[in-house]
Amino acid sequence: MKFKISEHIADIKPYEAGKPLREVEQEYNISNVIKLASNENPIGFSPKVYDAVKKHMKDMNRYPESSACVLSNKLAQRFHVSPENIVLGNGSDDIIALLAHGFLNPGDEALMPQPSFLMYEISVKTAKGKPVMVPLTDFSTNLEGLVKKISTKTRMIFITNPFNPTGSTITYDEFNEFSQKVPEDVIIVVDEAYIEFVRDDAVFNSLKIPLQDPRIVTLRTFSKAYGLAGFRVGYGIMDPEIAEILNRIRQPFNVNTLAQEAGVAAIGDEQFLNKSIQTTHESLDFLFDELSNLGIHCLPTQSNFFMMDLKKDATKVFEKMLQLGIIVRSMKSYGFDTFIRVNTGTKKENIAFIAALKKVLKK
Ligand SMILES: *Cc1c(COP(=O)(O)O)cnc(C)c1O
Repeated sequence: MKFKISEHIADIKPYEAGKPLREVEQEYNISNVIKLASNENPIGFSPKVYDAVKKHMKDMNRYPESSACVLSNKLAQRFHVSPENIVLGNGSDDIIALLAHGFLNPGDEALMPQPSFLMYEISVKTAKGKPVMVPLTDFSTNLEGLVKKISTKTRMIFITNPFNPTGSTITYDEFNEFSQKVPEDVIIVVDEAYIEFVRDDAVFNSLKIPLQDPRIVTLRTFSKAYGLAGFRVGYGIMDPEIAEILNRIRQPFNVNTLAQEAGVAAIGDEQFLNKSIQTTHESLDFLFDELSNLGIHCLPTQSNFFMMDLKKDATKVFEKMLQLGIIVRSMKSYGFDTFIRVNTGTKKENIAFIAALKKVLKK
Protein backbone atom coordinates (compact mmCIF):
# COMPACT_ATOMS: atom_id res chain seq x y z
CA MET A 1 0.00 0.00 0.00
CA LYS A 2 1.30 3.45 -0.83
CA PHE A 3 -0.08 4.98 2.37
CA LYS A 4 2.04 4.65 5.46
CA ILE A 5 0.01 3.17 8.31
CA SER A 6 0.61 3.76 11.98
CA GLU A 7 3.37 1.32 13.01
CA HIS A 8 1.78 0.31 16.29
CA ILE A 9 -1.33 -1.00 14.56
CA ALA A 10 0.50 -2.89 11.80
CA ASP A 11 0.12 -6.31 13.39
CA ILE A 12 -3.41 -5.95 14.75
CA LYS A 13 -5.63 -8.77 13.59
CA PRO A 14 -9.25 -7.75 13.10
CA TYR A 15 -11.81 -8.79 15.71
CA GLU A 16 -13.42 -12.07 14.70
CA ALA A 17 -17.13 -11.75 15.31
CA GLY A 18 -19.46 -14.74 15.36
CA LYS A 19 -20.71 -15.52 11.85
CA PRO A 20 -23.87 -13.47 11.20
CA LEU A 21 -27.18 -15.29 10.77
CA ARG A 22 -28.15 -13.71 7.47
CA GLU A 23 -24.75 -14.41 5.92
CA VAL A 24 -25.13 -18.13 6.66
CA GLU A 25 -28.72 -18.21 5.39
CA GLN A 26 -27.65 -16.68 2.09
CA GLU A 27 -24.45 -18.70 1.72
CA TYR A 28 -26.12 -22.05 2.32
CA ASN A 29 -29.55 -21.08 1.05
CA ILE A 30 -31.23 -22.23 4.26
CA SER A 31 -33.55 -20.52 6.71
CA ASN A 32 -34.09 -20.67 10.46
CA VAL A 33 -30.40 -20.75 11.17
CA ILE A 34 -29.54 -20.98 14.87
CA LYS A 35 -26.72 -18.84 16.21
CA LEU A 36 -24.98 -20.00 19.35
CA ALA A 37 -21.68 -18.25 18.64
CA SER A 38 -21.74 -14.80 20.22
CA ASN A 39 -23.10 -15.42 23.71
CA GLU A 40 -26.25 -13.51 22.86
CA ASN A 41 -29.51 -13.81 24.74
CA PRO A 42 -31.75 -16.32 22.93
CA ILE A 43 -34.98 -15.17 24.56
CA GLY A 44 -34.69 -11.59 23.37
CA PHE A 45 -35.24 -8.66 25.70
CA SER A 46 -37.80 -7.09 27.99
CA PRO A 47 -41.13 -6.01 26.46
CA LYS A 48 -40.59 -2.75 28.36
CA VAL A 49 -37.66 -2.11 26.03
CA TYR A 50 -39.96 -2.39 23.00
CA ASP A 51 -42.33 0.15 24.51
CA ALA A 52 -39.57 2.58 25.44
CA VAL A 53 -37.96 2.40 22.03
CA LYS A 54 -41.28 2.95 20.24
CA LYS A 55 -42.04 5.90 22.48
CA HIS A 56 -38.69 7.57 21.83
CA MET A 57 -38.49 7.03 18.06
CA LYS A 58 -40.02 10.47 17.65
CA ASP A 59 -36.99 12.03 19.37
CA MET A 60 -34.53 10.64 16.86
CA ASN A 61 -34.17 13.96 15.02
CA ARG A 62 -32.36 15.25 18.13
CA TYR A 63 -28.90 14.42 19.34
CA PRO A 64 -28.77 12.01 22.24
CA GLU A 65 -28.35 13.40 25.72
CA SER A 66 -24.58 13.49 26.14
CA SER A 67 -24.64 12.87 29.88
CA ALA A 68 -27.26 10.10 29.58
CA CYS A 69 -28.37 11.31 32.96
CA VAL A 70 -31.48 9.14 33.36
CA LEU A 71 -29.57 5.95 32.67
CA SER A 72 -26.59 7.05 34.79
CA ASN A 73 -28.86 7.87 37.70
CA LYS A 74 -30.67 4.54 37.41
CA LEU A 75 -27.38 2.66 37.41
CA ALA A 76 -26.06 4.74 40.30
CA GLN A 77 -29.14 3.88 42.37
CA ARG A 78 -28.97 0.24 41.47
CA PHE A 79 -25.34 -0.13 42.53
CA HIS A 80 -25.32 2.37 45.41
CA VAL A 81 -22.77 4.64 43.79
CA SER A 82 -22.88 8.19 42.50
CA PRO A 83 -23.39 9.13 38.82
CA GLU A 84 -19.81 10.46 38.92
CA ASN A 85 -18.65 6.87 39.25
CA ILE A 86 -20.28 5.82 36.00
CA VAL A 87 -19.09 5.95 32.43
CA LEU A 88 -21.41 4.77 29.68
CA GLY A 89 -20.18 3.29 26.45
CA ASN A 90 -21.27 2.15 23.01
CA GLY A 91 -21.02 -1.34 24.45
CA SER A 92 -18.39 -2.07 27.07
CA ASP A 93 -15.97 -2.44 24.13
CA ASP A 94 -16.06 1.34 23.99
CA ILE A 95 -14.97 1.66 27.61
CA ILE A 96 -12.11 -0.80 27.11
CA ALA A 97 -10.80 1.49 24.35
CA LEU A 98 -11.29 4.61 26.49
CA LEU A 99 -9.30 3.06 29.33
CA ALA A 100 -6.42 2.20 27.00
CA HIS A 101 -6.40 5.66 25.44
CA GLY A 102 -6.76 7.43 28.76
CA PHE A 103 -4.09 5.60 30.71
CA LEU A 104 -1.41 4.22 28.42
CA ASN A 105 1.57 6.14 27.13
CA PRO A 106 3.60 4.68 24.26
CA GLY A 107 5.27 1.48 25.47
CA ASP A 108 3.26 1.23 28.68
CA GLU A 109 2.17 -2.29 29.48
CA ALA A 110 -1.28 -3.76 29.95
CA LEU A 111 -1.37 -7.31 31.29
CA MET A 112 -4.02 -9.79 30.23
CA PRO A 113 -4.64 -13.53 30.08
CA GLN A 114 -3.93 -15.35 26.85
CA PRO A 115 -6.22 -16.07 25.10
CA SER A 116 -8.53 -13.24 26.13
CA PHE A 117 -11.40 -11.22 24.81
CA LEU A 118 -9.75 -9.77 21.69
CA MET A 119 -10.80 -6.18 22.32
CA TYR A 120 -8.26 -5.83 25.15
CA GLU A 121 -5.33 -6.47 22.85
CA ILE A 122 -6.77 -4.44 19.97
CA SER A 123 -7.48 -1.43 22.19
CA VAL A 124 -4.11 -1.54 23.95
CA LYS A 125 -2.23 -1.68 20.67
CA THR A 126 -4.36 1.07 19.14
CA ALA A 127 -3.45 3.26 22.11
CA LYS A 128 0.28 2.54 21.50
CA GLY A 129 0.49 0.40 24.60
CA LYS A 130 2.07 -3.00 24.85
CA PRO A 131 -0.13 -6.00 25.64
CA VAL A 132 1.65 -8.49 27.87
CA MET A 133 0.01 -11.90 27.68
CA VAL A 134 -0.06 -14.50 30.42
CA PRO A 135 -1.18 -17.98 29.32
CA LEU A 136 -4.08 -19.59 31.16
CA THR A 137 -3.41 -22.42 33.56
CA ASP A 138 -5.87 -25.26 33.31
CA PHE A 139 -8.30 -23.03 31.33
CA SER A 140 -8.32 -20.40 34.12
CA THR A 141 -6.79 -16.97 34.64
CA ASN A 142 -3.26 -17.33 35.99
CA LEU A 143 -3.36 -14.61 38.63
CA GLU A 144 0.06 -15.48 40.00
CA GLY A 145 1.47 -15.37 36.48
CA LEU A 146 -0.04 -11.91 35.99
CA VAL A 147 1.55 -10.68 39.22
CA LYS A 148 4.94 -12.02 38.08
CA LYS A 149 4.72 -9.96 34.89
CA ILE A 150 4.13 -6.65 36.70
CA SER A 151 6.91 -4.18 35.87
CA THR A 152 7.49 -0.45 36.31
CA LYS A 153 5.79 -0.05 32.94
CA THR A 154 2.58 -1.83 33.96
CA ARG A 155 -0.39 0.55 34.03
CA MET A 156 -3.35 -1.77 33.72
CA ILE A 157 -4.39 -5.40 34.20
CA PHE A 158 -7.40 -6.94 32.49
CA ILE A 159 -9.33 -9.62 34.39
CA THR A 160 -12.47 -11.25 33.00
CA ASN A 161 -14.78 -12.86 35.51
CA PRO A 162 -16.43 -15.17 34.46
CA PHE A 163 -13.81 -15.72 31.80
CA ASN A 164 -14.55 -15.66 28.10
CA PRO A 165 -13.99 -18.12 26.35
CA THR A 166 -13.52 -20.83 28.99
CA GLY A 167 -16.23 -19.91 31.53
CA SER A 168 -13.84 -20.16 34.48
CA THR A 169 -14.06 -17.85 37.47
CA ILE A 170 -12.06 -16.06 40.15
CA THR A 171 -13.15 -16.37 43.79
CA TYR A 172 -13.15 -13.61 46.41
CA ASP A 173 -10.15 -15.20 48.11
CA GLU A 174 -8.23 -15.48 44.87
CA PHE A 175 -8.99 -11.91 43.88
CA ASN A 176 -8.06 -10.50 47.28
CA GLU A 177 -4.76 -12.34 47.33
CA PHE A 178 -4.02 -11.11 43.81
CA SER A 179 -5.01 -7.48 44.36
CA GLN A 180 -2.78 -7.20 47.43
CA LYS A 181 0.17 -7.84 45.16
CA VAL A 182 -0.79 -5.23 42.56
CA PRO A 183 0.85 -1.79 42.96
CA GLU A 184 -1.33 1.16 43.96
CA ASP A 185 -0.94 2.93 40.64
CA VAL A 186 -2.06 0.03 38.46
CA ILE A 187 -5.67 -0.07 37.26
CA ILE A 188 -7.39 -3.44 37.66
CA VAL A 189 -10.07 -3.73 34.99
CA VAL A 190 -12.60 -6.34 36.06
CA ASP A 191 -14.75 -7.23 33.06
CA GLU A 192 -17.98 -8.71 34.42
CA ALA A 193 -19.91 -9.09 31.16
CA TYR A 194 -21.38 -12.41 32.39
CA ILE A 195 -21.60 -11.83 36.13
CA GLU A 196 -25.41 -11.97 36.20
CA PHE A 197 -25.29 -15.67 35.30
CA VAL A 198 -23.03 -16.71 38.20
CA ARG A 199 -24.54 -19.34 40.50
CA ASP A 200 -21.56 -19.92 42.80
CA ASP A 201 -21.47 -17.50 45.77
CA ALA A 202 -17.72 -17.85 46.10
CA VAL A 203 -17.20 -16.08 42.76
CA PHE A 204 -15.84 -12.55 43.10
CA ASN A 205 -18.35 -9.79 42.31
CA SER A 206 -16.68 -6.38 42.35
CA LEU A 207 -19.95 -4.50 42.94
CA LYS A 208 -21.12 -6.45 45.99
CA ILE A 209 -19.31 -3.80 48.02
CA PRO A 210 -18.38 -1.30 45.33
CA LEU A 211 -15.71 1.39 45.38
CA GLN A 212 -13.67 -0.01 48.23
CA ASP A 213 -10.62 -0.04 46.01
CA PRO A 214 -9.95 2.93 43.67
CA ARG A 215 -7.85 0.73 41.38
CA ILE A 216 -10.83 -1.40 40.37
CA VAL A 217 -12.73 -0.46 37.22
CA THR A 218 -15.78 -2.70 36.80
CA LEU A 219 -17.11 -3.25 33.30
CA ARG A 220 -20.68 -4.38 32.80
CA THR A 221 -22.88 -4.66 29.74
CA PHE A 222 -26.51 -4.80 28.66
CA SER A 223 -25.50 -7.10 25.79
CA LYS A 224 -25.76 -10.47 27.54
CA ALA A 225 -28.19 -11.03 30.42
CA TYR A 226 -30.39 -8.09 29.36
CA GLY A 227 -30.34 -9.13 25.69
CA LEU A 228 -29.55 -5.70 24.25
CA ALA A 229 -26.43 -6.54 22.20
CA GLY A 230 -27.72 -4.77 19.09
CA PHE A 231 -28.36 -1.52 20.94
CA ARG A 232 -24.72 -1.23 22.05
CA VAL A 233 -24.77 -0.09 25.63
CA GLY A 234 -22.33 -0.94 28.37
CA TYR A 235 -21.04 0.80 31.46
CA GLY A 236 -18.08 1.10 33.73
CA ILE A 237 -18.16 1.79 37.47
CA MET A 238 -14.99 3.35 38.80
CA ASP A 239 -13.26 5.98 40.85
CA PRO A 240 -14.56 9.46 39.88
CA GLU A 241 -11.05 10.61 38.89
CA ILE A 242 -10.76 7.80 36.37
CA ALA A 243 -14.34 8.39 35.19
CA GLU A 244 -13.57 12.06 34.61
CA ILE A 245 -10.70 11.18 32.25
CA LEU A 246 -12.82 8.73 30.26
CA ASN A 247 -15.69 11.21 30.00
CA ARG A 248 -13.22 13.79 28.71
CA ILE A 249 -12.15 11.67 25.76
CA ARG A 250 -15.28 9.72 24.86
CA GLN A 251 -17.38 10.75 21.91
CA PRO A 252 -20.02 13.12 23.27
CA PHE A 253 -22.86 11.01 21.85
CA ASN A 254 -21.38 7.55 22.23
CA VAL A 255 -24.63 6.03 23.52
CA ASN A 256 -27.52 6.78 21.18
CA THR A 257 -30.97 7.85 22.32
CA LEU A 258 -32.68 4.50 21.79
CA ALA A 259 -29.85 2.65 23.51
CA GLN A 260 -30.15 4.93 26.54
CA GLU A 261 -33.89 4.39 26.73
CA ALA A 262 -33.51 0.65 26.17
CA GLY A 263 -31.05 0.55 29.08
CA VAL A 264 -33.39 2.48 31.38
CA ALA A 265 -36.31 0.19 30.54
CA ALA A 266 -34.18 -2.94 30.91
CA ILE A 267 -32.99 -2.02 34.40
CA GLY A 268 -36.60 -1.40 35.35
CA ASP A 269 -37.66 -4.94 34.45
CA GLU A 270 -36.19 -7.25 37.02
CA GLN A 271 -38.72 -9.90 36.09
CA PHE A 272 -37.25 -10.24 32.62
CA LEU A 273 -33.71 -10.32 33.98
CA ASN A 274 -34.64 -13.14 36.34
CA LYS A 275 -36.34 -15.04 33.55
CA SER A 276 -33.29 -14.59 31.36
CA ILE A 277 -30.99 -15.93 34.07
CA GLN A 278 -33.28 -18.81 34.95
CA THR A 279 -33.70 -19.85 31.31
CA THR A 280 -29.94 -19.80 30.90
CA HIS A 281 -29.43 -22.04 33.91
CA GLU A 282 -32.08 -24.50 32.71
CA SER A 283 -30.46 -24.59 29.29
CA LEU A 284 -27.01 -25.17 30.73
CA ASP A 285 -28.27 -28.04 32.87
CA PHE A 286 -30.06 -29.59 29.91
CA LEU A 287 -27.07 -29.26 27.58
CA PHE A 288 -24.58 -30.57 30.14
CA ASP A 289 -26.78 -33.62 30.75
CA GLU A 290 -27.20 -34.35 27.06
CA LEU A 291 -23.53 -33.86 26.27
CA SER A 292 -22.43 -35.97 29.17
CA ASN A 293 -24.69 -38.75 27.83
CA LEU A 294 -22.80 -38.44 24.56
CA GLY A 295 -19.54 -38.76 26.47
CA ILE A 296 -18.46 -35.24 25.57
CA HIS A 297 -16.25 -33.36 27.96
CA CYS A 298 -17.51 -29.83 28.75
CA LEU A 299 -15.62 -27.25 30.80
CA PRO A 300 -17.57 -26.11 33.87
CA THR A 301 -19.06 -22.66 33.44
CA GLN A 302 -20.64 -19.83 35.41
CA SER A 303 -21.73 -17.90 32.33
CA ASN A 304 -24.19 -18.36 29.45
CA PHE A 305 -21.70 -20.28 27.30
CA PHE A 306 -19.22 -23.11 27.63
CA MET A 307 -16.44 -24.87 25.79
CA MET A 308 -16.42 -28.55 24.90
CA ASP A 309 -13.67 -30.81 23.66
CA LEU A 310 -14.84 -32.80 20.64
CA LYS A 311 -11.42 -34.40 20.03
CA LYS A 312 -11.81 -33.44 16.38
CA ASP A 313 -10.61 -30.49 14.33
CA ALA A 314 -12.83 -27.66 15.61
CA THR A 315 -12.91 -25.77 12.32
CA LYS A 316 -14.23 -28.84 10.52
CA VAL A 317 -16.90 -29.32 13.19
CA PHE A 318 -17.79 -25.63 12.84
CA GLU A 319 -18.22 -26.03 9.07
CA LYS A 320 -20.30 -29.21 9.34
CA MET A 321 -22.53 -27.62 11.95
CA LEU A 322 -22.97 -24.60 9.65
CA GLN A 323 -24.21 -26.87 6.89
CA LEU A 324 -26.85 -28.09 9.33
CA GLY A 325 -27.82 -24.51 10.08
CA ILE A 326 -26.13 -24.06 13.43
CA ILE A 327 -23.46 -21.44 14.09
CA VAL A 328 -21.00 -22.35 16.82
CA ARG A 329 -17.57 -20.91 17.54
CA SER A 330 -14.41 -22.82 16.71
CA MET A 331 -11.81 -22.22 19.40
CA LYS A 332 -8.91 -22.99 17.07
CA SER A 333 -7.80 -19.39 16.73
CA TYR A 334 -7.73 -19.25 20.54
CA GLY A 335 -5.32 -22.17 20.63
CA PHE A 336 -7.87 -24.85 21.55
CA ASP A 337 -7.75 -26.86 18.35
CA THR A 338 -10.43 -29.41 19.21
CA PHE A 339 -12.80 -27.22 21.24
CA ILE A 340 -15.91 -25.36 20.23
CA ARG A 341 -17.73 -22.73 22.29
CA VAL A 342 -21.50 -22.47 22.29
CA ASN A 343 -23.92 -20.33 24.21
CA THR A 344 -27.27 -21.49 25.54
CA GLY A 345 -30.22 -21.27 23.17
CA THR A 346 -33.96 -21.61 23.60
CA LYS A 347 -35.24 -25.11 24.41
CA LYS A 348 -35.90 -25.74 20.74
CA GLU A 349 -32.48 -24.46 19.73
CA ASN A 350 -30.73 -26.57 22.36
CA ILE A 351 -32.48 -29.71 21.11
CA ALA A 352 -31.59 -28.86 17.50
CA PHE A 353 -27.97 -28.26 18.53
CA ILE A 354 -27.68 -31.65 20.21
CA ALA A 355 -29.30 -33.41 17.23
CA ALA A 356 -26.94 -31.70 14.78
CA LEU A 357 -23.89 -32.41 16.91
CA LYS A 358 -24.80 -36.10 17.07
CA LYS A 359 -24.95 -36.18 13.26
CA VAL A 360 -21.65 -34.36 12.86
CA LEU A 361 -19.81 -36.59 15.32
CA LYS A 362 -21.08 -39.75 13.65
CA LYS A 363 -19.55 -38.81 10.31
C1 LIG B 1 -19.60 -9.80 25.28
C2 LIG B 1 -18.46 -9.29 26.06
C3 LIG B 1 -18.37 -7.95 26.41
C4 LIG B 1 -19.49 -7.00 26.09
O1 LIG B 1 -19.31 -6.33 24.96
P1 LIG B 1 -20.31 -5.15 24.57
O2 LIG B 1 -19.40 -4.23 23.83
O3 LIG B 1 -20.84 -4.52 25.82
O4 LIG B 1 -21.37 -5.76 23.74
C5 LIG B 1 -17.29 -7.51 27.15
N1 LIG B 1 -16.34 -8.38 27.57
C6 LIG B 1 -16.41 -9.67 27.28
C7 LIG B 1 -15.37 -10.58 27.79
C8 LIG B 1 -17.46 -10.16 26.51
O5 LIG B 1 -17.49 -11.46 26.20
